[in-house]
Amino acid sequence: MYTLISGKEVSEKILEEIKQEVATLKKKPHLAAILVGEDPASQTYVNSKIKACERVGITSTLVKLRDETTEDILLQKIEELNLNADIDGYIVQLPLPKHISEQKIIETIHPAKDVDGFHPINIGKLVLNLPTYISATPYGIVQLLQHYNIVTQGKHCVVIGRSNIVGTPMSILMGKNNAHANCTVTLCHSKTENLSQYTLQADIVIAAMGKAHFVKADMIKEGAVVIDVGINRVPSTETKSGFKLVGDVDFIQVAPKCSYITPVPGGVGLMTIVSLLKNTLLAAKKEIYS
Ligand code: NDP
Repeated sequence: MYTLISGKEVSEKILEEIKQEVATLKKKPHLAAILVGEDPASQTYVNSKIKACERVGITSTLVKLRDETTEDILLQKIEELNLNADIDGYIVQLPLPKHISEQKIIETIHPAKDVDGFHPINIGKLVLNLPTYISATPYGIVQLLQHYNIVTQGKHCVVIGRSNIVGTPMSILMGKNNAHANCTVTLCHSKTENLSQYTLQADIVIAAMGKAHFVKADMIKEGAVVIDVGINRVPSTETKSGFKLVGDVDFIQVAPKCSYITPVPGGVGLMTIVSLLKNTLLAAKKEIYS
């Protein structure tokens, strides 16, 4: 019988800890979020982040820009936030409209305010094991593994997906030389031949590919830990909206083979928000950049 890793339970506990710490600070941390355009999923994510801020006493500012906003205007907004001493950290919700270079935008965010941990300097620090803002989703996953005392040391972890914001930083974190990592890591991607030969050897599988229900039971070893990062909108007759969110793992098939597994929704997604707030707290306390 598997244990369901509850992002809800762990995130509630950590939110409470953040709230208590924020209450001790003279100046409340201040997070800003820039949202460009009307993408419904992005709007939902940003709203959840703002709501979470309210809950723990972090001040938040939402900067909403129209879809047609030029790259120059967005860069100007970013420079303003870089210079605004009241803002401790900020995020630019991705994806951005196609006419804007995400890389250029990320590189313009001041590393000290980059609480998403996407700036090359912060990723570089992560690789070199220096204090930094760890990208929110991988950081959330590490916290889930820790909360459930899941042994990682000496285990084989297979990460599926190598994006800059999830798969790559995740693979780096799991390979680190500390008791909460020390895995042997295999990083798989769309060009990996015979993916199953790797996943079948894995003690821990972290699926971050963005392909609904791609990971099936015959790809997973008995007793494996499965972390599902995927958030995929699929058509559904069960909901009023006509769609529902599912992960990259075929939960119903895979769960009976696992020792631990995360659900979607209710797993990794909630932890991503908590990690963002933790990074904002670090920014406010000037713990990474003084
Ligand atoms: P990207 O699209 O940027 O990256 C997907 C990665 O998966 C790529 O590296 C790609 O390989 C790889 N991939 C795609 N198809 C396959 C395949 N058939 N076999 C093996 N690898 C494959 O996605 P993100 O990393 O941004 O997001 C991944 C998923 O996680 C999405 O569903 C997203 O919605 C979700 N997500 C969830 C978050 C949360 O809070 N829970 C936060 C962020 C993302 P290649 O590099 O070769 O193209």
